[in-house]
Amino acid sequence: MQRILVLGGGVGGTLSANLLVKKLRTRIERGDVSVTVVDATGEHVYQPGFMYIAMGGEREQNLRRAERGLLDPRAQLVVGQAVRIDDDRRTVELADGTRLVYDYLVLATGSRILPEAIPHFDAEAHHFYTPEAARRLRRALDAFKGGRIVIGIAGMPYKCPPAPLEVAFLIDSELRQRRLRDKTEMHFCSPIGRVFTIESVSEMATPVFAEKGIEVHTFFNVEEIDPANKVVRSLEGEELPYDLLILVPPHKGAQVVIDSGLAPGSGWLPTDRETLQVKVAPDKPDGTPSPRRPHMYALGDATDLPLSKAGSTAHFEAPVVAERIAAQVRGAEPEAKAGTYTGRVMCFFEIGGGKATVLQFDYNHPPHPPKPNRFWHLGKIAFNKAYWFTVPKGRV
Ligand SMILES: Cc1cc2nc3c(=O)[nH]c(=O)nc-3n(C[C@H](O)[C@H](O)[C@H](O)COP(=O)(O)OP(=O)(O)OC[C@H]3O[C@@H](n4cnc5c(N)ncnc54)[C@H](O)[C@@H]3O)c2cc1C
Repeated sequence: MQRILVLGGGVGGTLSANLLVKKLRTRIERGDVSVTVVDATGEHVYQPGFMYIAMGGEREQNLRRAERGLLDPRAQLVVGQAVRIDDDRRTVELADGTRLVYDYLVLATGSRILPEAIPHFDAEAHHFYTPEAARRLRRALDAFKGGRIVIGIAGMPYKCPPAPLEVAFLIDSELRQRRLRDKTEMHFCSPIGRVFTIESVSEMATPVFAEKGIEVHTFFNVEEIDPANKVVRSLEGEELPYDLLILVPPHKGAQVVIDSGLAPGSGWLPTDRETLQVKVAPDKPDGTPSPRRPHMYALGDATDLPLSKAGSTAHFEAPVVAERIAAQVRGAEPEAKAGTYTGRVMCFFEIGGGKATVLQFDYNHPPHPPKPNRFWHLGKIAFNKAYWFTVPKGRV
């Protein structure tokens, strides 16, 4: 019996498990191979919908489904929190003391937000990275009658890089409709020297900020929130007063990978950019590559790859992980193209006013976002609905 253990039942974990079952069906039915997903909650959450709780009428119950219903019946599901991975013994320990043994391990544990890393964040700043926070932001926007809105990013990397820009553009549109835009100053703060990490996207988005009259502050790394004076200060020494503060919280990888010594510090797993195998350590600064763990893979938000932390990234990585593990189980070489991740990502990007664009890129081809239009906005809305029937099940 060869045991494949998948930690995390989000986009990456669910899709990898379902694709592995497709590829290894006969062996699983014979009892030679098992595929088991371990998930802390047993619920699959569609996180892109959180933004639409804050920015539209989306309801939380539409964004959650039982993981069991999304997994192929041939895959097993264990609901429990993984607390320790012992790769020498090839075991994963759960919080209730259960020990699961693996031959192959897929780490799809996503990322965590840490608002508590910045004093006064919870009391002063709004965000939309949980349903509760998104509802609270919606209430604050409903009560807003004009003033200064500051939108920023309190730590890199974070999930869905376009999201804070989209929120700035959507709030601008909403305030115009509510005839409050004249009474509102809007500010957008970016921790780097431009509004978006990828240059071509920054070139597309910078004029949109200008057209909408949203003032951009680059090199603004949030250092302190001062609730008494209602100002947010940057490491670089800038100070911005706010009436409504919206900040993407700092992120880290899963605690279990930190505690197990696989990704000390940040929790972002050192991952081979093409094979998606987890490396023993990050590559040396002089470029000397670190050895890979041949039986351990990472995908989605959990990796340290210099790509968007996006469901779309996990979506395009999962087939590579499934191809490689299935080949290893069969004692064969993976098919070269199917077993190589090219860095492919595709993300919709709302611009406001019922328009959006799309970012499509890979390691070698930067995105060239088309002129924003209604088609891509409707595409994003349709994708949000179609997600449950397509992505986790491996139908696209
Ligand atoms: C507001 C918002 C908007 C977004 N918009 C987009 C968008 O438009 N497009 C896009 O592509 N992406 C978007 N994303 C990002 C996307 O949701 C994530 O990148 C994606 O979910 C990552 O998939 P994943 O499988 O790596 O992790 P997740 O989907 O987060 O799944 C991780 C799973 O691991 C489980 N887990 C974690 N630790 C443990 C443990 N110790 N033991 C057991 N289980 C564990 C969790 O319970 C969870 O089920 C958005 C995210 C947010 C928050």
